Amino acid sequence: MTQTMLKPLITADEIAERTKEIAVDIRRDFGDEELIVVGVLKGSFLFVADLCRHLGINVKVDFVQTSSYGAEKSSSGIVQIRKDLDVNIEGKNVLIVEDIIDTGLTLTHLMQIWQTRKPKALRVATLLSKPAARTHEMNVDYVGFEIPKKFVVGYGLDHGERYRNLPYIAELIDDASN
Ligand code: 5GP
Repeated sequence: MTQTMLKPLITADEIAERTKEIAVDIRRDFGDEELIVVGVLKGSFLFVADLCRHLGINVKVDFVQTSSYGAEKSSSGIVQIRKDLDVNIEGKNVLIVEDIIDTGLTLTHLMQIWQTRKPKALRVATLLSKPAARTHEMNVDYVGFEIPKKFVVGYGLDHGERYRNLPYIAELIDDASN
């Protein structure tokens, strides 16, 4: 019988500490200028919430949603936008906030579309990055943690909509030995 196990990888305290550090970097880069923070749903919802609390007052928040992995552990390779931006980003500073960058396909696609809308700046923050999985190279401005090419859940990240509410990041392991 296959059993699913959670192997803790990054603690809630480590996430909180790193989030504060990233916010310091973002504030340093944008100063008092207005910043539109765009979370990519659903996985980024906790990271956006915690990051925004450290960003000061000149922040607007929006969300977009792309096609998800569903209950699978690998991408379909096709990016669809289910919900686009509500705000006009022309001439604005925009920070896209992701939960995790795996192949880079999703963000490459979003960046290409949004660059055509002529933002003043378009930057990327991600809580997690799997550099070894990258097939679409891109510049990532703010990275929380680099992790190996493993499937992880928790702190917003799901598997079939489960585990998003875990306060920490864990590797999801299918243990076929049980
Ligand atoms: P990419 O387009 O970079 O391959 O994938 C980005 C999206 O894939 C993420 O926003 C996330 O929804 C999903 N994803 C990639 N790796 C993982 C993972 O290890 N765990 C979970 N839960 N989702 C992942």
